[in-house]
Amino acid sequence: MPQPAGGIAIKDVVIVGAGPVGLCLALELAALDLSVTLIDAAPYTALASPGDDGREIALTHASREQLAAAGIDIPADQMAPIREARLYNGDRPRGMTLARARGEGQDRIGQLVANHVIRRAAFEAVQGVEHIELVTGRRVNALGAGAGWRSVWLDDQSHIPARLVVAADGRLSATRRLAGLSAQIHDTGQRLLVRRMAHALPHREVTWSWFTGERGLALLPLAGDTASLVMTLPPHDAERLKALSSEAFAAEATRLYQRSVGEMHCHDALHDYPLTVSRAEHLVTDRVALVGDAAVGLHPVTAHGFNVGLASVRRLVEALTPHDQAVEDVGMPARLAVYARHHQRAILPLWHASRALVTLYGDTRPPSRLMRHLVLGAARQAAPLQWLLEDYLAGPSSRR
Ligand SMILES: Cc1cc2nc3c(=O)[nH]c(=O)nc-3n(C[C@H](O)[C@H](O)[C@H](O)COP(=O)(O)OP(=O)(O)OC[C@H]3O[C@@H](n4cnc5c(N)ncnc54)[C@H](O)[C@@H]3O)c2cc1C
Repeated sequence: MPQPAGGIAIKDVVIVGAGPVGLCLALELAALDLSVTLIDAAPYTALASPGDDGREIALTHASREQLAAAGIDIPADQMAPIREARLYNGDRPRGMTLARARGEGQDRIGQLVANHVIRRAAFEAVQGVEHIELVTGRRVNALGAGAGWRSVWLDDQSHIPARLVVAADGRLSATRRLAGLSAQIHDTGQRLLVRRMAHALPHREVTWSWFTGERGLALLPLAGDTASLVMTLPPHDAERLKALSSEAFAAEATRLYQRSVGEMHCHDALHDYPLTVSRAEHLVTDRVALVGDAAVGLHPVTAHGFNVGLASVRRLVEALTPHDQAVEDVGMPARLAVYARHHQRAILPLWHASRALVTLYGDTRPPSRLMRHLVLGAARQAAPLQWLLEDYLAGPSSRR
């Protein structure tokens, strides 16, 4: 097999993106004695001490177990239990239960963990791992190819050849584009405001999502009488809320959330995100695979982006290492095709369901309002959405 110029050794895997998904993948591959180089554009200090970005990640039991098995240790006191997830429509008080802890030893359907806590724990876990090399502060500019290998070219003109290149660089993945993999990218035009609040009444460990006209409001229960508010808003509404003082914001949030948890007070800073969702049409090409948000970047209404990202890691590792044995050449097209088939099949229903839900609930026209009531009514009977979400909450990685 021809070697790369300069006699540079070929790695088994290069992962672009040391986000939580890329880090977890690196750990799982290194545990199989595969050599991994992990590259991230962010500087080392930003990755080692990630700032609080306001995101609360809903972890399923399967995700929690997967992180623990990979050596990513999330302290128990950093996890807030979720007992029930509910969905409401408009001003109507009746909602539907999407998922609920069933008892019988199961006291929760999942747990909420701050995103920066996961990132820090995952970054700590890769330190000193024998087979993992970390390259920080470097951006991937181009991909090269040889017989039996691909290479990434970095912005300092260096290059790293590997049997397999994995893009874990987020929903606007540059590596995906460099590999020529097309994606549907949908900028919803909406904004996502996130803020932790203290409140007077207990949240009873219930998450709720509530669609009123152009707004999508969600409440994620945290430790004690605190919660994370996640608001999907049109830009003018987001700007209006951002301009308010902390006191005025708290009063407006109390009003918007209809005093459901009583009077609120700001607990933390306000975070503002553009709302873009994406899905790659193909997950693999010649010795390149997409994982995490680079494969599918779901609407936060599903609260499952990271769970689905971890499921992509598990499916890729399983496809590359049948019978728990690392194959000699991890970039073999047949193995990548297995991964693509399994993951695509698992994410498509969630992608379409979340798109349909957001379209339906974001549309304020009377026919859509009526349709929403019908969907909620029908869902109470047939519960297709309930099934879908409950299935994922129970553990997306348990499914192929
Ligand atoms: C407000 C908000 C709330 C959310 N809530 C939830 C939730 O409740 N539950 C849930 O499961 N998910 C949630 N998500 C989604 C979740 O945060 C993502 O699914 C998860 O972060 C994806 O991880 P990742 O590692 O794939 O990508 P990212 O976290 O985006 O990491 C990508 C990494 O790649 C690096 N990078 C980018 N470009 C390059 C390049 N060219 N070269 C080198 N490195 C590069 C970046 O520096 C970064 O470190 C939420 C998202 C948002 C925005």
